[in-house]
Amino acid sequence: MAELTPMMQKYMETKEQYKDCILFYRLGDFYEMFFDDAIVASKELEIALTGKSCGLEERAPMCGIPYHAVETYLARLVSRGYKVAICEQVEDPKLAKGLVKREVIRVVTPGTNLDVQSLEASKNNYLMCIAYTSDGIGISAADVTTGDYYVTEVEDLRKLKDELMKYEPSEIICNEAFLVSGYDVEDLKSRLHMSVSSLESHMFDDDGCRRILMRHFKVNTLIGLGVEEFPTGILAAGALLQYLYDTQKTDLEHFTHISPYLTSKYMLLDSSTRRNLELTETLREKQKRGSLLWVLDKTKTAMGGRLLRNYIEQPLIDKEEMEKRLDAIQELNQDSISRDEIREYLNPVYDLERLLSKVTYKTANPRDLIAFRNSLQMLPPIKTVLSGFQKEELAAIREEIDGLEDIYQLIDEAIVEEPPISIREGGMIKDQFDETIDHLRAAKHDGKQWLVQLEEEDRERTGIKNLKIKKNNVFGYFFEVTNSYKDLVPEDYIRKQTLANAERYTTPRLKELEDTILNAEDKLQTLEYDIFCRIRDTIAQELVRIQNTAKALAKLDVYASLSLVSERNHYVRPKLNEKGVIDIKDGRHPVVEQMITNDMFIANDTYLDNGSHCISIITGPNMAGKSTYMRQTALIVLMAQIGCFVPARSANIGIVDRIFTRVGASDDLASGQSTFMVEMNEVANILRNATSKSLLILDEIGRGTSTFDGLSIAWAVIEHISNRKLLGAKTLFATHYHELTELEGKMNNVNNYCIAVKECGDDIVFLRKIVKGGADKSYGIQVAKLAGVPDMVIDRAKEIVEQLSDNDITEKVQSIAIDNKGDGKAKKQPKYDEVDLAQMSLFDTVTDEDVLKELMEIEVTTLTPLDALNTLYRLQNKL
Ligand code: ADP
Repeated sequence: MAELTPMMQKYMETKEQYKDCILFYRLGDFYEMFFDDAIVASKELEIALTGKSCGLEERAPMCGIPYHAVETYLARLVSRGYKVAICEQVEDPKLAKGLVKREVIRVVTPGTNLDVQSLEASKNNYLMCIAYTSDGIGISAADVTTGDYYVTEVEDLRKLKDELMKYEPSEIICNEAFLVSGYDVEDLKSRLHMSVSSLESHMFDDDGCRRILMRHFKVNTLIGLGVEEFPTGILAAGALLQYLYDTQKTDLEHFTHISPYLTSKYMLLDSSTRRNLELTETLREKQKRGSLLWVLDKTKTAMGGRLLRNYIEQPLIDKEEMEKRLDAIQELNQDSISRDEIREYLNPVYDLERLLSKVTYKTANPRDLIAFRNSLQMLPPIKTVLSGFQKEELAAIREEIDGLEDIYQLIDEAIVEEPPISIREGGMIKDQFDETIDHLRAAKHDGKQWLVQLEEEDRERTGIKNLKIKKNNVFGYFFEVTNSYKDLVPEDYIRKQTLANAERYTTPRLKELEDTILNAEDKLQTLEYDIFCRIRDTIAQELVRIQNTAKALAKLDVYASLSLVSERNHYVRPKLNEKGVIDIKDGRHPVVEQMITNDMFIANDTYLDNGSHCISIITGPNMAGKSTYMRQTALIVLMAQIGCFVPARSANIGIVDRIFTRVGASDDLASGQSTFMVEMNEVANILRNATSKSLLILDEIGRGTSTFDGLSIAWAVIEHISNRKLLGAKTLFATHYHELTELEGKMNNVNNYCIAVKECGDDIVFLRKIVKGGADKSYGIQVAKLAGVPDMVIDRAKEIVEQLSDNDITEKVQSIAIDNKGDGKAKKQPKYDEVDLAQMSLFDTVTDEDVLKELMEIEVTTLTPLDALNTLYRLQNKL
């Protein structure tokens, strides 16, 4: 250390405090990085790695970026999961004695990135804190760009996962205990690209956490904040706040409140259901197009976009809340002219929440303020249009929107229409806003007039015809005389600079004028800067009013968007009931109906209740539309619970507490589990956590194993679900096992449905209509033909089917069902020996054909490459 240069010693001292960060060290016009930081950053940022002599024998590896381009480089590092500490010069180098004083002014991390350009406007960027304790798991999430701040608690890791998937934070901070809790932290980092780091244990100290929350919100007890009932939540919220103080180094004024919530206040959606229902992004391409959000999002503002996403991510379970939203949408539907007018007014409204955070971080520039003013201009007309609406929710929004006329006026009077971006160079404050500014501007202006006069006078006095007064940044003002007039230069001219073809001079008079002008300019710049900062601070003081207005505008935007979508797509207002009856007439899939081009979506009814229509078993060939139908039911229920109109002729929705889906292979495969294992994990989760108020969507349970095992599992699952003492949850169950249709009539709450197809000679036509009864054939060969499997293979498959039917397993299954029917009590499981023997005999005699048959039935078009590999491997093993 002692051998290092003094500057390097200082650098090392700072670096020591920010070991887990890349340190951006300000030297003049550059941020420099040294040693390992330089090696990492030069690679990530693709900039040259150089060296700097640092007192040691070897030069220190170094790289640098110009200060004015810092945002782009910062965003790149942060988006790759790095933390960056920014160390600034905190005193004027001109005035510094010795080394310029430097301080870390902010630490930028993935969850605290303020660079709006690198963030998605319609998505929050959350930082999440997890406090894992033996009494429960505290969760807190915050978005520094908007000031949103939440806290809750869950009992176990599975529920934690559900919350994690809801927020999708870009950064997680946690206590040490979480890292050893058994949660797959590696998966969070590598697959979901979340940065995860643990904080020191003192950050989670109960007293400390309570104290920091009380201090921040200026209260004497936590009761008023509503967080007292979340003891572990307080730890997470407190540690999060401390982390923000440590990294942001501001007083976080825009965190004006904390929102505690019970996870039970919302419909519970586990992570695989979120994915399967494609709520905010599609399963395969991970894009918004093709998701429910894509259909519903016609919002005009970024704030509205974020709120709609939140609504979709957490549907309600409180009927009144849903009705309130539905009322608002209905009212807007009834006066679509006013609604469209509101949308017009919302169009130019800027992201007030993110702007406000810029104001509190003191990074808002004059152009931001002009955008702000333009947004505020829209408030009075919006309020006027809203006064035509009577219902509770829209009336409340009108109340919550503060006209903010004072702020509008302040910006309007103070800031010029087209200000420069820089706040240091003046030119931003309007004339007549401040007397001193006007005065200085006059002096500057007059000075320039005097210069013109002086130029003319001296031209006459000296006879130099092309004599000119010019200015540059190094020499200030000067007379310029070309070489041809050199002889006429008078005695009192003092030479300043010699050029190839001209000489530059000054005079005492010119010097005097120069001083007046430059002085005025200097003073002006400083004064304009001060006034601008004062205006920004004045706005910051009105934070709460602006935040409330922003929230109200976001809500209005969401309602207007949902209203427009329901009108355009012919949705209806759902009725809501708490009796558990789901009765949908002519329901449609909100996304598929938008995606198919020929406008021919076939609507279908759904009826489910907790009595005799508890389970619907749905059969039909591949591609018939089973999964579309099941998802559409789930989505209609979910949309109703968002408080949104639904795609149907009519809908009466029994509010559900959870929706579970088990559909196809999921991308957990990447984490190294087999398809079947993933499937069974999900089934286990559903059976353990579903209640009689849940809605279950089960698609082809048991497909990933041998026919008999699969069938037996599917059978037992249906028995379990249908048993009211055990579960009794409303369920749509799609299956290829036609044998399961035997269950109708044997259990009084199971009903068969199938999706109709029409046979046309050798081919089939999909009718997409759901009808009562079970399908009698699977039409696998016809579908394979449609998919383009060569005729030779199709013909051979037909021959095999003929042979196979002799060994039809249905008979064996029927015998089990008949066995069970006798006693009339709960169904017995099929005896293991019985099934096993049957399976053996079946596979022993027709091994190759069986493999062929399975091959025939594979849905090649929907198979992922990984699935294909798994399947091949399995088939090969059977031969
Ligand atoms: P399955 O689950 O039975 O294999 P899907 O539900 O995946 O079939 O449906 C296959 C395709 O059929 C869908 O991608 C969609 O384009 C079309 N489809 C499904 N249901 C309908 C419907 N009700 N109206 C029109 N097209 C439909």
